[in-house]
Amino acid sequence: MDTLTPNDMSAIVEADRAHVWHHLLPHKPLETNDPRIIVEGKGMRVWDQRGKEHLDAVSGGVWTVNVGYGRTEIADAVRDQLVKMNYFAQSAGSIPGARFAERLTEKMPGLTRLYYANSGSEANEKAFKMVRQISHRHHGGRKSKILYRDRDYHGTTIACLSAGGQQERNAQYGPYTPGFVEVPHCLEYRKADQGWGDVEDYGRRAADAIEEVILREGPDTVGALCLEPITAGGGVIVPPEGYWARVQEICETYDILLHIDEVVCGVGRTGTWFGYQHYGVKPDFVTMAKGVASGYAAISCCATSERVFEMFKDAPDDPMHYFRDISTFGGCTAGPAAALANMDIIEREDLLANCTAMGDYMLDGLHALADRHRVIGQARGKGLFLGAELVADRDTREPAAEKKVQAVVADCMEQGVIIGATNRSVPGHNNTLCFSPALIAKKDDIDAILSAVDGALGRVFT
Ligand code: PLP
Repeated sequence: MDTLTPNDMSAIVEADRAHVWHHLLPHKPLETNDPRIIVEGKGMRVWDQRGKEHLDAVSGGVWTVNVGYGRTEIADAVRDQLVKMNYFAQSAGSIPGARFAERLTEKMPGLTRLYYANSGSEANEKAFKMVRQISHRHHGGRKSKILYRDRDYHGTTIACLSAGGQQERNAQYGPYTPGFVEVPHCLEYRKADQGWGDVEDYGRRAADAIEEVILREGPDTVGALCLEPITAGGGVIVPPEGYWARVQEICETYDILLHIDEVVCGVGRTGTWFGYQHYGVKPDFVTMAKGVASGYAAISCCATSERVFEMFKDAPDDPMHYFRDISTFGGCTAGPAAALANMDIIEREDLLANCTAMGDYMLDGLHALADRHRVIGQARGKGLFLGAELVADRDTREPAAEKKVQAVVADCMEQGVIIGATNRSVPGHNNTLCFSPALIAKKDDIDAILSAVDGALGRVFT
């Protein structure tokens, strides 16, 4: 633990209470409860200001620290890079920037270019801007609309919220940016609410619903479709069989660019480098952030195909022909330096294979819990990206009350295990427990997480 004295620590807690505006937290409880300060981390575990140890089942709270805490080799790589060359605007290149772009694009056949930025939202904004500029340059201003899916999330800026299918995240931040249009979600467990009857081929039906929106809007108005490969904060929604193949077909039929938001799934989370690689799709844009450097540095990327890149260089006599965009801190070399070291670790320790094996083990464990706790309506996920949807009634599938879901999270926290839950996202459906342990997780860690959830469910839903 840190060498701070108890007095130092209470001063820090008071400074935090007085001056820090915490993300995602209501203010009132912090007047009476101490804010939580995370002081140190090692492997799968973190320690708070009281010295309490927590097993982190959500990789830094939001699917981020894929290779675990305390990786000195990433810190060393960042330090070495910073003392040599910390920053220059990305109009010039950098050594780690070039190396990482080359290594990463090798993992994503068909994509060749990397645009560097700092956050998932920003990477998505880059893709949106590219789509808009392609509309102006190649379609006379048509094909500017961007479709997004109910329950998906693409970030926190106003344009990203306008492309966001989680009404509770968006509420009170309007007016929104025009030109974004919603398509239905693809959560088969909730298909009864979608009014399509008891369809057999649900994957195809849910994708056909995208085509219906395209036809309603007019195909020549739609430029791109932006989807999460597996929806994260909207409920850990693994797309149904046949969905992605049909999505690809629809994009090709109507000449619509496919933008896959891999901010959560990217760089190993589901057992492949990218989530879309489970489904054989060929995206035009792939955006990524959280796992790219496991939170050791702020970095996000918008990867594109050469076809997209070419669309910006066909009229050199036009002074507006190129992508006139900059992200100041996209030139920080700490990001790609950390990302390269992060990738070394994933390869050397064979973490994709571990992620697949431990993900299967944990999903089996969640199914076993569902046999004992009727409150688990469905457990789902891929790799170490898992969720358990809680219901008040298994037959009607009425969602469990949000307060009770949060009580399970709080109970686990008491036990020293940090889990997550969908929160303030989809009205009435904030009822999915979320798990995303680091890709280094071992069976013992998974057993400890499952055991904490088992105990919490038993106590909360007596
Ligand atoms: N896209 C997805 C799928 C996300 O889950 C998130 C954040 O959770 C974002 C984009 C936004 O990323 P950031 O918070 O880095 O802007």
